[in-house]
Amino acid sequence: MITPHPQAPIADIIILGAGVMGASLAFHLAQRKPGRVVVVDKDFAGQGASGRSSALIRMHYSFAPEVQLAVKSLEIFRNWEEIVGVTGDFRRTGFVRIVPAGEVDRLKANVAMQRELGVNTGLISGMELKQMEPDWNVEDVEVAAYEPDSGYGDGAGVANGFLDAARARGVTYLPRTKVTSLIVAGDKTRGVRTDQGEIAAPVVVAATGQWSLALFKEIGIPLPLAAEMHEVAILKNPAGMKGGGCACIDSISNVYFRSDGQDKTLVGGFYGKRGVDPDNFPQRASEESLGEMAKEACRRIPALQHAGLMRGITGVYDMSPDCRPLLGEVDGVTGLYVMAGFSGMGFKISPATGLVMSELLLDGRGKTVDIRAFRPSRFADGHPIKGSYEYRDD
Ligand SMILES: Cc1cc2nc3c(=O)[nH]c(=O)nc-3n(C[C@H](O)[C@H](O)[C@H](O)COP(=O)(O)OP(=O)(O)OC[C@H]3O[C@@H](n4cnc5c(N)ncnc54)[C@H](O)[C@@H]3O)c2cc1C
Repeated sequence: MITPHPQAPIADIIILGAGVMGASLAFHLAQRKPGRVVVVDKDFAGQGASGRSSALIRMHYSFAPEVQLAVKSLEIFRNWEEIVGVTGDFRRTGFVRIVPAGEVDRLKANVAMQRELGVNTGLISGMELKQMEPDWNVEDVEVAAYEPDSGYGDGAGVANGFLDAARARGVTYLPRTKVTSLIVAGDKTRGVRTDQGEIAAPVVVAATGQWSLALFKEIGIPLPLAAEMHEVAILKNPAGMKGGGCACIDSISNVYFRSDGQDKTLVGGFYGKRGVDPDNFPQRASEESLGEMAKEACRRIPALQHAGLMRGITGVYDMSPDCRPLLGEVDGVTGLYVMAGFSGMGFKISPATGLVMSELLLDGRGKTVDIRAFRPSRFADGHPIKGSYEYRDD
């Protein structure tokens, strides 16, 4: 017997997941009043990967459409209050990309491509970097890429900010409502089954992060996604260390880091553990990996040897085979869309990704950025994405 959902039995568009992606899409759809939009989350907004995100914001990518998504997103982060109408959390610290000597040519080519796309970025020498960040050891840095306008934000803040603004514009939000099944009849989407009842709709968008794999598997669609656990350390800076420094991805030390306010440093590793259960993974970071990451970070910022370990964070990336998201309608099922597979990089592009997905739904194509290269069928087609000048650890 069909039990319709008591609050939202019918919708025009259902968005599954209220992380930064689902919430951004809800906000951008709401701006255009496309009918009844319902956002469903099994938990609360921003409690998935978004709330655990290190939330670095940078535009240094090797694939042009990713750069374009990051550029548009930065514009939204910087003008958050004006656009979204609530206070934002964007911190402009600057961003530095460091690569080994053998990849400097790639770095230069990427910076040139990014500049052509309007990114405020350039190359700086090790000496210039030292002047900016006196605590950093730059002996092994010949040249680095520098973006003065980048920095970091807050995943749960962005998800909740977008969602609050979407709700103020008429979107219905159903927290603590688990989607147990996608409803597909023949080649058409009919809605979703939840633990509170069914919601009928011709369009369903899964912004369900690492949980997307199981949801689609249940209806016989194998998404090429894998869950990968990552750990992050928050260190208390020692007395005398300059606070509020640049965010950095450092392929020589194999860590990324950023300041966390004026007195702390966040450090994360590049490599994670594959095949974890997104509903049952360690909630505490291991002392061993936190110690390892802190050690690597000390190669770049020696003062951190005297830092205190404040806490660890664990979280799960939804990895795709080419480390790029799956954005678009699923092949063979009209009205079923996916926006997942952000591979540990989704926060910084979430504002623009929600915008272009709203364009795809309402106008038939991404207008702000052409996102056809991200179509979910690209792996089956044999067209995974490859940036022109990718790094070995991209
Ligand atoms: C440790 C860590 C560090 C990161 N650092 C960065 C960084 O520095 N910069 C960057 O850009 N990105 C970073 N990322 C990646 C970024 O955080 C993610 O790409 C982004 O948050 C993904 O957002 P999302 O909305 O797709 O997924 P999520 O935030 O995971 O949201 C998915 C939502 O779907 C809901 N859901 C799932 N299944 C169901 C269901 N069956 N029914 C109803 N609801 C469901 C969940 O409850 C959840 O709220 C990091 C991620 C992690 C884990």
